[in-house]
Amino acid sequence: MKTIQLKAGKERSLQRRHPWIFESAIAQGNAETGETVRVVSHEGAFLGWAAFSPASKIRARVWSFEEAQKIDAQFFIAACESAVRARGRFDINSDSMRLIHGESDGLPGLIVDRYGDTLVAQFLSAGAERWKQELADALLAATGLTKLYERSDASGRALEGLPEVTGWLRGDGPTELVLHEHDWQLAVNIATGHKTGFYLDQRDSRHRFADYTRRLKFKQVLNCFCYTGGFTVAALTGGAFHVTSIDSSGPALEKAAANVALNGFEDHQVTFMDADVNATLRKFALEGRIFDAIVLDPPKFAPTVAHAERASRAYKDINRLAFKILAPGGVLFTYSCSGGIAPDLFHKIVASAGLDAGVDGYIVERLGGAPDHPMTLNFPEGEYLKGLVIQRK
Ligand code: SAH
Repeated sequence: MKTIQLKAGKERSLQRRHPWIFESAIAQGNAETGETVRVVSHEGAFLGWAAFSPASKIRARVWSFEEAQKIDAQFFIAACESAVRARGRFDINSDSMRLIHGESDGLPGLIVDRYGDTLVAQFLSAGAERWKQELADALLAATGLTKLYERSDASGRALEGLPEVTGWLRGDGPTELVLHEHDWQLAVNIATGHKTGFYLDQRDSRHRFADYTRRLKFKQVLNCFCYTGGFTVAALTGGAFHVTSIDSSGPALEKAAANVALNGFEDHQVTFMDADVNATLRKFALEGRIFDAIVLDPPKFAPTVAHAERASRAYKDINRLAFKILAPGGVLFTYSCSGGIAPDLFHKIVASAGLDAGVDGYIVERLGGAPDHPMTLNFPEGEYLKGLVIQRK
């Protein structure tokens, strides 16, 4: 077993059970891609068993902080069982959910989503890649399912020096599926959709949006960055008259239109716009268009803190424009899924956008990812999705 020795003082984050070991924290030691290493402090004290990743700035990720723990197939069976069991205790109103949320479930670099009877996995770290076959077997055993599709085509793979891989890893079946959440259904393509196919993390927000629409009787709704129409269907279910839905992806909009029909709504209830959100908001502001409710759920503008400054300007711009076309008493659901933008920074950005638009509002609710995308006490990076519900005064 190879040993990685840390520099003096660099043991602290591991002692707080944070699983990442950066390249700059290592005094000496080397290993193969994905190999399990023993990590020790500068003084030689045991800190954890970790997967080594020679190409990555996150040079190793801890599997276990227990010296007695063996990292073998049995370890992965237990970890998958424990994560799946936890989902049974969460409040998840859907047949589709995240079963393994990487570091938060003790499996750094592994993402697994369940869509009905099909699992979709992303192996995003050298360690997860090394144990792929054992993990696939453990996942099927923990769920009693037989189909697992691999979507290891996320950008994180390149940072770990891993090639893109997609396709059936276990079993085989349709890649075009329909998920059932809350009071609606949504078609998902697990082979071509974003991430593993869909934004399961926004499930509870979609439900809240339907609730607000019902309670406050929103008539004209604007859904920006609508993807396959999750918030559009939620608004219609809540009784909205009309939903303007904008996205710059043609295939996403086609699917959104299909999802509107799938839920029994009519074409005339939705206007789909294949357009840039920023430019469209500007145009609406000039035209004096006004909406009762607006959803702003943009892509990740700041994957890391290094992108935060430019991303802050982009967030501020769209929020300022949205405030300008929001009716008095209307509600803005605004999000950031950027790991590089902390919750308090996001709050400041939205506040200054309101100030520039000359609009004040009540923050009536703060939202985060659905519970199957858990945060843990020791891994603050798990809190990537932040939402504010703001009611204009
Ligand atoms: N709200 C969605 C998820 C949004 S993901 C849901 O709940 O399912 C972000 C979406 O923004 C993607 O569909 C992407 O195609 C779209 N997008 C990215 N940049 C855009 C831009 N400048 N203008 C319009 N859409 C954009």
